[in-house]
Amino acid sequence: MIISINKIIIPFYEKDSNKKLLENFKKESNLILSLFPLEEKTEKLKKILELLFFSKFSFLTSIITIREKHYILFLYILLIIYPSITKGKKTYISSLIDLEIINYIKLNYIPCLIEENTFKKSLYEIEDFLNNNDYKSGAYICSCGNWYKILECGLPLYTFNCLFCKEIIGDTFHIPYDRNGHYRIFRDKSQEDFVMKWVNENNWLKRNCVNGEIRNFRSKIFSDFKNEVENMNDNNIIGFIKYSKEFFIKNKNIRNLNQITIRLIECVFYECLLLNWELEYLYFNDLENLIPNNYDSIFDVLTDCFDLLEIELEKKGIKEIEIFFIMIYNKIGNLFINYEIFNTIEIRNEFENKIN
Ligand SMILES: [Zn+2]
Repeated sequence: MIISINKIIIPFYEKDSNKKLLENFKKESNLILSLFPLEEKTEKLKKILELLFFSKFSFLTSIITIREKHYILFLYILLIIYPSITKGKKTYISSLIDLEIINYIKLNYIPCLIEENTFKKSLYEIEDFLNNNDYKSGAYICSCGNWYKILECGLPLYTFNCLFCKEIIGDTFHIPYDRNGHYRIFRDKSQEDFVMKWVNENNWLKRNCVNGEIRNFRSKIFSDFKNEVENMNDNNIIGFIKYSKEFFIKNKNIRNLNQITIRLIECVFYECLLLNWELEYLYFNDLENLIPNNYDSIFDVLTDCFDLLEIELEKKGIKEIEIFFIMIYNKIGNLFINYEIFNTIEIRNEFENKIN
């Protein structure tokens, strides 16, 4: 099977003109069909195969514009999806490539989906900010999880209301408003020492006491903040809640799952969505609600998924993606067949533990 697929892929390595490439590809398409035993071809599978290899359809034409490695990954993920859609049995995967997809998602704990909580979103943005800005620049967090920055001296001089929860943030005279959950996040201990020395030298805490009380300068070191946020309980969500592209791309802390597992499950999920979309089972508005913010198309989400998987594999020293897939596709494909619904957290966790 793999040998045949490689044969199909080979033309993509040759830098022929695109037109010729496409012609070659069409010629080789019969090979792909021969990989799937006839008796197992369900209507759904037939449709997918037609879509991929025999229609004038957008995917075939977009192959010309995508990178070869994305196409290869697309085929390998298809090998994982394949067993779930052959026997006409209802499975997690077959439900994602179905007219009823929206209802299905609403009622299930989709593996690897977690809610983007505001603290987690802020965490990654703060990390970027602290790494890429002037040493004095200040990052502050509100009790609601929303964060804000103060540039230049990095200390507050004005009072504001949080855009999200409307509580007081900022404050005057170089000291952040003294309120539970509102504090500055220092890049590291040395930044804290540097700023606090400066605050103490100027006697800002004592000079600006409120009703005779000396104000607190509330703060945390970034690494402590990170620890705290990453250990926050993931809310188990049923259905799907849209999240941001940043959150999607960043390494996610999902229960005890390793990053390769997370990316692999995401690849399967979004490839099913792409197939669903191309089969015209999904309305545009529904699709839009299922892909992260700031993406133009499901296609872009999927190619990012592939890149993220590749990065995680490389981190583990796996450079030969084909070998990785040859080793796992059968096992993973067969694992997916056994799961029809994830209507309880226990079933979802059991699946995640097995695949991990
Ligand atoms: Zn707030």
